[in-house]
Amino acid sequence: MAMIPINRPFLPPRDEYQNYLKDVWQRNWLTNDGPLANELEKNIKDYLSINHCLFLSNGTIALQVAIKALDLKGEIITTPFSYVATTSSIVWENCTPVFCDINPLSFNIDPHQIEQHITPRTSAILATHVYGNPCDIDTIENIAKKHGLKVIYDGAHCFGTKYKGKSVFHYGDITTASFHATKLFHTIEGGAVFTSSTELLNKMARLKNFGFTGVERFDGVGINGKNSEFHAAMGLCNLKYVDSILQKRKASSCYYDDRLKGLHITKPFLNPDSEFNFSYYPIVFKDEQELLLVKSALELAKISTRRYFYPALSSLNYVTAGPVPIADRISKTVLCLPLYFDLSDEEIDTVCNALIRALNT
Ligand SMILES: *Cc1c(COP(=O)(O)O)cnc(C)c1O
Repeated sequence: MAMIPINRPFLPPRDEYQNYLKDVWQRNWLTNDGPLANELEKNIKDYLSINHCLFLSNGTIALQVAIKALDLKGEIITTPFSYVATTSSIVWENCTPVFCDINPLSFNIDPHQIEQHITPRTSAILATHVYGNPCDIDTIENIAKKHGLKVIYDGAHCFGTKYKGKSVFHYGDITTASFHATKLFHTIEGGAVFTSSTELLNKMARLKNFGFTGVERFDGVGINGKNSEFHAAMGLCNLKYVDSILQKRKASSCYYDDRLKGLHITKPFLNPDSEFNFSYYPIVFKDEQELLLVKSALELAKISTRRYFYPALSSLNYVTAGPVPIADRISKTVLCLPLYFDLSDEEIDTVCNALIRALNT
């Protein structure tokens, strides 16, 4: 029996990609704000109805550029339940992550616990819209305004998600995205920053290009956050398929829901003001022992799953953290099931049958 992976990157028809490459060869313009990178930024902005977007080399650099652009110092209140890059980028930028526990239903940062972590050294809130499910954006915004804090959203999972009818990338001072091959929309490697401030946009454009402001002129410290024409070409191809990718993932998720009905597993509670993009299919078991039992039973059946996110980021060996009991519990009991564009209903049947059998033993 064939292996069912946790994820299979979407690939467009090869001739569509090759058509873009013909032009690249003709122009011999491979990177540095090339025409395809510019076209991709424009098409993403049109698709999402958003004002500003910068295409960057990956989602981690996007976070670092965002932190640098806002000139953040001291402590940044963040979530312990995210991918490691959310925390590592804070530390890389010489700031201190302060972990605020998550809401047990949404798995996003619990805004009602944020204020107790604010000190005179706090400069910002960096929250992840976990699995593409928006945070409690309005409450976070009110707290930030009240205390004069900046807000960055790690929107790595959120391509296609809407909050109150708009792309979720609209919110916060800056939202970052990842276009890594495993994400719903990808450019092989890649990422982006979104902001509604022209000033921040210009600053980030400078930061991603060594601080370059003109031939032989540099203003401030910068980094190389550029991306290439080859990556942009993949994005231009894939963007044409995003609607069908979103539809297919929704259909597969509903099919999973149907097949897993009645089991004693739970799923994150979706933000009622949002349109979800079905980026992942996470399920939560009653305890870690049950998760491990199911995970190894699925492995025997050649089905791979991912403990996404485990361990909680508060346990990284370069941070100090107070107690975050909910993040600890969720990270020990959550498992993501295979979900990707060409996953068939028969394969979902195979996954669900193996899962149900494991839970019944
Ligand atoms: C994937 C991911 C990142 C990092 O993105 P890269 O493009 O791989 O650097 C950051 N945060 C979250 C939540 C992610 O899932």
